[in-house]
Amino acid sequence: MEQLRTLWDEQYARIAAIVPDAHCELVHRNAFELTIAVLLSAQCTDVMVNAVTPGLFAAYRTPQQFAEASVEDVAHAIRKIGLFRTKAKHIVQLCRKLIDAYGGEIPTTREELMTLPGIGRKSANVILSTAFGVPAIAVDTHVERVSKRLGVVHARTSVAAVERELMVRLPEHEWTRAHHRLVLFGRYHCTAMRPQCAQCTLRTICPEGQRHHEGGWTR
Ligand code: SF4
Repeated sequence: MEQLRTLWDEQYARIAAIVPDAHCELVHRNAFELTIAVLLSAQCTDVMVNAVTPGLFAAYRTPQQFAEASVEDVAHAIRKIGLFRTKAKHIVQLCRKLIDAYGGEIPTTREELMTLPGIGRKSANVILSTAFGVPAIAVDTHVERVSKRLGVVHARTSVAAVERELMVRLPEHEWTRAHHRLVLFGRYHCTAMRPQCAQCTLRTICPEGQRHHEGGWTR
């Protein structure tokens, strides 16, 4: 067990060297804008979300304005984003819930956040940690993939178990930074389709990298 922890410590240290500046790439000015951006980011790149949100927040400046908008109008404003009709419906419903249940403010607990339409545990963790400074590890597709490639968890481990394992392996003060770090590492280095194992500084301590090394560093 101690050996596993030591391996992870080294893996994480090397990831930290590759991604020293760990931050959220969704552009936002406050917790409300972050919440809408996180909702929009499901199955969509942050680049695409960032291309849409300036116009969206210029047209709808408050939860009240979104709550009073038609779903069709919001859908038109975000039409370049995947699943835009469903997301528009969730945005309007979310803002109505904010007005009705939370005084128009984004709530600050995971349980309350998860009562909002379109917000699951992963999104709640992003909002909690990024907007409110509450330590949390949001396990998105990048965090899950990197964790499994590095052997932190077994390939068939559930997302919930990945989150629990990372929380055990990292000190609480590092949780939020680790989330952003693993996201950026997965997004730009250990990518889904073409991980750059041959150039990766983790290749000697990464089971997935070693597996491909046996084939002669084909990637
Ligand atoms: Fe990802 Fe390959 Fe690096 Fe392992 S060696 S962390 S699979 S890029």
